[in-house]
Amino acid sequence: MSRVFNFSAGPSILPEVVLRQAADEMLDYKGSGMSVMEMSHRSKVYDNIIKEAEKDLRDLMKIPDNYKVLFLQGGASQQFAAIPMNLMVNGVADYIITGQWAKKAYEEAQKYGKANAVASSADKTFSYIPDCSDLPISPDADYVYICHNNTIYGTTFKELPNTKGKILVADMSSDILSQPVNVSDYGLIYFGVQKNVGPAGVVVVIIREDLVRDDVMPFTPTMLKYKTQVDAESLYNTPPCYGIYICGLVFKWVKEMGGLSAMKTHNEKKAAILYDFLDSSDLFKGTVVKKDRSLMNVPFVTGNEELDAKFVKEATAAGFVNLKGHRTVGGMRASIYNAMPIEGVEKLVDFMKDFEAKNK
Ligand SMILES: *Cc1c(COP(=O)(O)O)cnc(C)c1O
Repeated sequence: MSRVFNFSAGPSILPEVVLRQAADEMLDYKGSGMSVMEMSHRSKVYDNIIKEAEKDLRDLMKIPDNYKVLFLQGGASQQFAAIPMNLMVNGVADYIITGQWAKKAYEEAQKYGKANAVASSADKTFSYIPDCSDLPISPDADYVYICHNNTIYGTTFKELPNTKGKILVADMSSDILSQPVNVSDYGLIYFGVQKNVGPAGVVVVIIREDLVRDDVMPFTPTMLKYKTQVDAESLYNTPPCYGIYICGLVFKWVKEMGGLSAMKTHNEKKAAILYDFLDSSDLFKGTVVKKDRSLMNVPFVTGNEELDAKFVKEATAAGFVNLKGHRTVGGMRASIYNAMPIEGVEKLVDFMKDFEAKNK
């Protein structure tokens, strides 16, 4: 068996110890005589799995008691619709467009009410985060929406927007658990787990209790109404059982790593290795405004498409895989999520130095 260094943006690398534990427990989960894939989601043993996953996530993120935690299906993209259906009471919401995922959420919300783009960085290919200290927030906005870390473009909010008292809603799909979060700053946080937490098929919603309401838009599907899921403790129908189990193992792993502050230190160290090299290289350049750089997704280019392609090809052959940039940005992107060891980034930089020397 040989494992590669996997820089995929998503689905992406998971901690090896978690995969090994899942393998060990595959045929007989804790003496149940069956796999987690094979058990009833209403069984006692599964109830423990989902309850413990929730408890560990609450511990890690210090989620206050007045927030509900939901384990749902449909991916992050389904939340683009669920959020306006559930939260647009006045039928108005303000969106900050910092990339494709925010733009998709904004476009989806337009189906359900008046969605306003109050800021955007589209003018420079989303290579920066706009100044959000004094935005034209709508007086009747039900919420202000951000994508906290822009997976495709490699930017991240270091400072939250001034929402002028409105509820903040955030997509944290690609940076959840990478650093501490003050949950109370938000009305709703959600994340598709396949970037930093688990296998595709699970989306987690953390929602403040008072925003879980019965008077949602009348056509809201039962499954997309947060109240349905809150009342049923995420078990209205069969949840993505196995995926939630793996998320639970990853939560325990993050705890063992020292929690979110330790994770942040670990991630800052990794990112600095790559960014410092990009800043000193004559060949490779980062594509993002320095102050807005993501700890998780690092896009870079050589400035020459042929050389980019050559780099990706040779890197793949050397065991550094999934480095091709998103089709809208080109070049390369290294996603260095929680589970990427420092060694992976160090070796990648060594490989880049070598490539640079050979291709001057
Ligand atoms: C990947 C991603 C999405 C889309 O996730 P799906 O689960 O495929 O719908 C949305 N937002 C962000 C920030 C992402 O990184």
